[in-house]
Formats: sequence, C-alpha cells, structure tokens
Amino acid sequence: NAVIGIVGGGQLGRMSAMAAAKLGFRTHILTQDPHGPAAQVSDGVTLGAYDDLTALEKFARAVDVITFEFENINADGLDCLAQHCPVHPSGAILRTSQDRSVEKSFLTETGIPIAPWHQVDDLASLSEAAEKLGFPFILKTARDGYDGKGQRRVYTPQDMIPAFEALAPRRLVAEGMVDFACEVSVMVVRGHDGTIRCFDPGQNFHKNGILDLTLAPAPIDPTVAAQAQSLAASIAEQLGLIGIMGVELFVDRTGTLLVNEIAPRPHNSGHWTMNACPVDQFEMHIRAVAGLPLPEASRHSDAVMKNLIGPDDMALWPDIVAAPGLLPHLYGKAEARHGRKMGHVNVVFPYGSLPGPLGIQDALGPLAEHEKAPELADT
Ligand code: ATP
Ligand code: MG
Ligand code: MG
Repeated sequence: NAVIGIVGGGQLGRMSAMAAAKLGFRTHILTQDPHGPAAQVSDGVTLGAYDDLTALEKFARAVDVITFEFENINADGLDCLAQHCPVHPSGAILRTSQDRSVEKSFLTETGIPIAPWHQVDDLASLSEAAEKLGFPFILKTARDGYDGKGQRRVYTPQDMIPAFEALAPRRLVAEGMVDFACEVSVMVVRGHDGTIRCFDPGQNFHKNGILDLTLAPAPIDPTVAAQAQSLAASIAEQLGLIGIMGVELFVDRTGTLLVNEIAPRPHNSGHWTMNACPVDQFEMHIRAVAGLPLPEASRHSDAVMKNLIGPDDMALWPDIVAAPGLLPHLYGKAEARHGRKMGHVNVVFPYGSLPGPLGIQDALGPLAEHEKAPELADT
C-alpha cells in the first residue's frame, strides 16, 4: 500500500495520518520531534529540519506522494521534494498563502473581496497606510503569523510607531479593521480531476487570538452561506489546488463577505466535520492528495467544536472524558503549555437543531462552567 508523506508533525498531521490509515495508506512524517502528535500515529518518521536537503531527500525516497500540515515551512523545500514525487498542494500555492502580501495581491487579482490593505516596509509606507485605511487598522507580519501572533491594533496616530517597532524589521501589511457581524470559514477540497467539494460554513469565535469555538452550520442567511462556498471554490479553482483548504471570511452587518485569509491544509475550524460528516476534512484531504474520488461534503448532524487550550482546559480532562455527549480528540502532547492546542471536543446535535447560546453552554457541560465565551454569554 502506498505511503503518504506528511511534512510537519503536529495535530493536523496526526489526524491526517489517522484518516490515511482508515483508507489503507501508510504514512511517513518529516518532523524534528520523534514523539510529536503525528509521529505517534504514523508508520515512519524522517527526523530533520524543513530546509535540510539531506533530510528532504531521505523523506522523499520513503514516500509515494507528499502533503504538508504546517505552512511555515520552506516553499523551496517543497519544490525540491517535487523533483522526487508529487507534492499536493504545490509549493506555488504555499508560496501564495504563507505571505499575506502575496496572498492579498492574488485574491485581489482573482476578484475576491478582501479588506482594504497596504504593504508596510518603513515609516513612509506606514503613513501611507494610515492615510489610505484610516483608523483603526491592524498591522500584521507578512509571514509566520498564527493564532493572532505578530499582530498589533492601531487605534490612533500615537499607536502607529510603537506597533510598527514591535513588529519591525519584519515585512508587514496593514489592514483596515473590519466591523464584522461574524466570522465564518469554509473548508474546500479539490481533487485531481478538478472536482470541488465545500463543507457548510462554520461560525468561529476566538479567545486571546486563538480559535475557541466553531458552530456548524454557521447561523447565517443561506444565500450568504452559498456565496461563501462559491468564493472558496473559486479560490481553489484559481490556485489549481489539490487537497483541502480553509478559507476564513468576515460577514459584515449587511451580509457582505470579505475573505480574511486562506490556509491550504486541514484547518482547526474544520474539526467539527470529524463527528458531524460521513467523510471529514482529513479523509477528504487524503482522498484528494491520493487521487481518490471525492464524495459530497455532506453533513448528517449539527455540531459545536470547542478547543482544549493549555493547562486550564486540560485540568478539566477527567470531567470532560466523563461527560455524556462530549466527543474528545486529544493530540498526545506531553506538556500542556499556556496557549497550546492540546485537543478539541465536538458535541453533535440532530441535523437542523443546533441550539442557541444557552443550549450550547449547557451541552458543553464541564467546559461551559469553565468558559463563558463573551459572545455567547451576552445573548
Ligand atoms: P490563524 O491562527 O487563523 O492563522 P492568524 O494569526 O493568521 O490566525 P488572522 O486570522 O489574520 O491571524 O487574525 C486573527 C483574528 O483577528 C481573526 O480571526 C479576527 O478575529 C481578527 N482580525 C484579523 N484581521 C482583522 C481585520 N482586518 N478586521 C477585524 N478583525 C480582524
Ligand atoms: Mg493565519
Ligand atoms: Mg486566521
């Protein structure tokens, strides 16, 4: 049976490897951590840095097709791997998604609506950004940001220099602050034959810059949901994507959609599919990468996904695992450091019966005691 190579050793690789095993594939991980989440459940591991050419070659020789679960890797490294065997998604797609400036230029050229933005390299372009965007705006590092890291909000002219200095000398982009009614994301997958499937949009809530909760389906107008899926499909088509991709969007108060960012890999906001869909995001991804047919991205249940972050959430583990209705997924990380994603919990409801905020609190059991998402607590 064929071996799927996964670059990156985190939880997305772990859950991809588990989905691959279900389809009879073996997996082989390229990582620096021999005991990490993905290595624990894979059939083989090459230890090495993502830009270590010797490790890359050794890895490529051990596998039949390669994918990645982590975006902050060297795209040249992926191109180098592609000389030995197919890599999906391609290095070119990674190059587009891993740099906000390239990503935003691509989305604009493709006719995808995004928030107004300006590239910031120095104080002169910072002033231009303020003039173009007005206040407030957000400064983000062009590369390597995740979980809201590498961002500063700029509310007044006085905030500009401190925010810039906190992030410089890295290359930055400034983005107009969107007054969104809600945040949603769409998982879209595209196969070898060009078949595109989109899961239903989920609504996302963040806490301290980290995804906290996803509700599926997102409680938005069906027309807006369909538009979000069609934007995601159009991005996948334009990229020539093979594999799965998360597309994050803002919905403003008039129901207008703006794409925030794209991630050509399985995505935290798609974890609800693991218990609410016959074929989840990880199996869809593996099917696409391996050239298997893509079934409909259908949903048999409504769902809530709650992330388990750091030591506070993990302290509740005995209660979580004992609570009826909580479906836990742990990532096998040894140490529950602050802000670290340790696992997630899904709760499913019959199709079409996602409860309101109070019902969701109730369904989350021990996690609701501990956590009152402000957005949910208020309504
Ligand atoms: P991820 O972990 O999803 O990769 P990230 O670090 O790449 O996150 P973003 O998705 O760009 O960061 O931003 C994190 C969150 O900050 C968004 O989900 C949103 O809540 C808020 N945010 C980002 N950009 C804007 C914006 N232009 N206007 C309003 N809110 C924003
Ligand atoms: Mg991001
Ligand atoms: Mg994001």
